Amino acid sequence: MRGTVQGVGFRPFVYRLALELGLSGEVANDSEGVLAEVEGPVPALDELVRRLVDDAPPLARVTSVESSPAAAGAAGAHAFRIVESRAGAVPAVPVSVDVATCDDCLAEVADPDDRRFGYPFTNCTNCGPRYTIIRAIPYDRPATTMAGFPMCAACEAEYHDPADRRFHAQPNACPRCGPHLRLLASDGTLCSERGDALEQAAVALLDGQVVAVKGLGGFHLAVDATSIDAVAELRRRKQRDDKPFAVMVPGLAAARALCRLSPAAEETLASPRRPIVLAPRRPGAELAAGVAPGLAELGLMLAYTPLHHLLLAHVGRPLVMTSGNASDEPIAHVDDDAVERLGPMVDAILTHDRPIHIRCDDSVVRTRLGGDVQMVRRSRGYAPEPLTLPEPARCQVLAVGAELKNTLAVAKGNAVVTSHHIGDLEHLAAYRSFLQAVDHLCHLAGVEPEVVAHDLHPEYLSTKFAVDMGLPTLGVQHHHAHIASCLVEHGRTGPVLGLAFDGLGLGSCGTLWGGEFLVADLGGFRRVGHLRPVPLPGGDRANTEPWRMAMAWTDAALGRPAAEGVGRRLDDRWAAVLTLIEHPATATTTSVGRLFDAVAALLGLHPHMTYEAQAAVALEACTAGVPLGDGAGYEATVDDDGEVAVLDPAPLIARVVAERDAGTPVPVIAAGFHDGLGRSAARLAIDLASRHGLDTVALSGGVFQNARLSEVVERACRGTGLTVLVHHRVPPNDGGISIGQAAIAALAP
Ligand SMILES: [Zn+2]
Ligand SMILES: [Zn+2]
Ligand SMILES: [Zn+2]
Repeated sequence: MRGTVQGVGFRPFVYRLALELGLSGEVANDSEGVLAEVEGPVPALDELVRRLVDDAPPLARVTSVESSPAAAGAAGAHAFRIVESRAGAVPAVPVSVDVATCDDCLAEVADPDDRRFGYPFTNCTNCGPRYTIIRAIPYDRPATTMAGFPMCAACEAEYHDPADRRFHAQPNACPRCGPHLRLLASDGTLCSERGDALEQAAVALLDGQVVAVKGLGGFHLAVDATSIDAVAELRRRKQRDDKPFAVMVPGLAAARALCRLSPAAEETLASPRRPIVLAPRRPGAELAAGVAPGLAELGLMLAYTPLHHLLLAHVGRPLVMTSGNASDEPIAHVDDDAVERLGPMVDAILTHDRPIHIRCDDSVVRTRLGGDVQMVRRSRGYAPEPLTLPEPARCQVLAVGAELKNTLAVAKGNAVVTSHHIGDLEHLAAYRSFLQAVDHLCHLAGVEPEVVAHDLHPEYLSTKFAVDMGLPTLGVQHHHAHIASCLVEHGRTGPVLGLAFDGLGLGSCGTLWGGEFLVADLGGFRRVGHLRPVPLPGGDRANTEPWRMAMAWTDAALGRPAAEGVGRRLDDRWAAVLTLIEHPATATTTSVGRLFDAVAALLGLHPHMTYEAQAAVALEACTAGVPLGDGAGYEATVDDDGEVAVLDPAPLIARVVAERDAGTPVPVIAAGFHDGLGRSAARLAIDLASRHGLDTVALSGGVFQNARLSEVVERACRGTGLTVLVHHRVPPNDGGISIGQAAIAALAP
């Protein structure tokens, strides 16, 4: 059996199947997957082979089952058994992802006659905490945060019985021997324990209070999602103006009542990985408006631990479950720290005594226009599952990622293994977490780095760390890494025409890129086109104040007096920005992300942002009701000297301004901008692909989280017979950078 078959309960599964079918023999992990030698009647063998695929454990992905006659004797001589792994059986990471509670465990928790009735830490071989509780390998109970809970006799018996669902389930526990709930006041004093703690927490939530809840990878802040006052109070305490909150519901029926879900969205939402799924919200959905102000989408997730299920059952309504932190800090995951940091924000803390070793945020997935899904944040439920390299690594690599949305990756053999989402390294706590993750990931994956891959930006803390390691390093251009991450996801080495559209990344020549057309493979790239560069007035401040980019782009499209007019309307500091735009020393950028900011600000959408990408997200959100059009009249032009083509959106900007002045509704203008930019970019991509003899286009960079833009570019390119690679399993944003870096360094000659 090949595929994802190790570390997912596959050997006990084969064992139980063999017992049921009355077969003898043995099963073991080997270097290529799981190998079984089985003896018995042919019909039973046939059924075994069929059910190996049909009934595989939830996390397994069986890609192939091969069978051939075995030599007589040997394995068939005894009752079926699980044997130790054979030589060479080294999975890329001997550690599974964290898995949502399975149906069998849920049934036990709900059964008054079961010894685990109402027990919030019920788990088995098919479900429960993994990555977040592992301190070291090999993965045995003493190496996890369950070390302090010796199993009782009943649990021990389950653990040692190969026929039991809990055979070798390291976190196995029950009310007699396992962890327990505690409810703390905001100052950390104990209020109640066990069942009482759960009930009091539910009462507090129904009373409109804010409760911190310890989950798998960290603390959430929870409130009643239907209460306008509770949601407003949470925003006030968390100092979060309008960034959307995620909502947790018990099951798909409750999710369907809140959002329109495509089949792929439903499948993802209910999968054992249980990410947050962003999907179009139903008009009239019963939720406080303050949950996701001004957005057409809602972030939903289903309960994924017994504690969540029990809490939701007690409360009986959807809960806001937002990360337990103040503004943009990393989420709290250690008890003392949680009391200190979250205490001032909450009325109570629902916690327990099973420590979390690795902080792991909820993963986030977005529904695309066609209904399929795209990774936005790859973390709990996905890390540290490896991706397969298109060719074996030539050396062992550590890749340290970018500065924002940081993740790490290591490469060895055929695998790239990525860390959980670490966050924005400028926060000290995130940087500490980064340092811890470097050691932990190398340890788990058994990697001793021979090369450290990093971004070209010398000021990224990840770059400085890489350089200080004293190992050979490889600087990887940011947008090349984006395109490489897309190639890895599709098992390709290239070459492709890569469109890398994002916020900002340092280019090869010291300028700030973000709208690039690259002829790229995993070995290198050539920049064959880019967005027209404009000044980035105020450096970093231009990233959070879109009105600055509105002035810069108006200046480029319509000249100085028009830019001055825009500035006067939007911000008192307009004169200083005009000076910056005029100044030859002001840095320029080709960023498409900043172009979106500019257009949003010109249309009055968030000229001053309170969270990252707010303006661009609002610009896309307002187009939801406008059918995909041809963007006629909204066109960018191309200046092409035969070497490097420049996509110039100045005519687009002029049109946006003219329509706005003519009173055209903002959603129509926003849609025209999306469709026009997408078609113009696709036209150039098609032209460049043909000029360079390429049949494939790859779309990467955070801007391609924009479902509308992505759809327009994809359709136009596919319409001419090009293959288009887009992201599904790897984030298009900077969370995917480490994967691209790792692949480029691993396959470098
Ligand atoms: Zn289970
Ligand atoms: Zn027990
Ligand atoms: Zn980027």
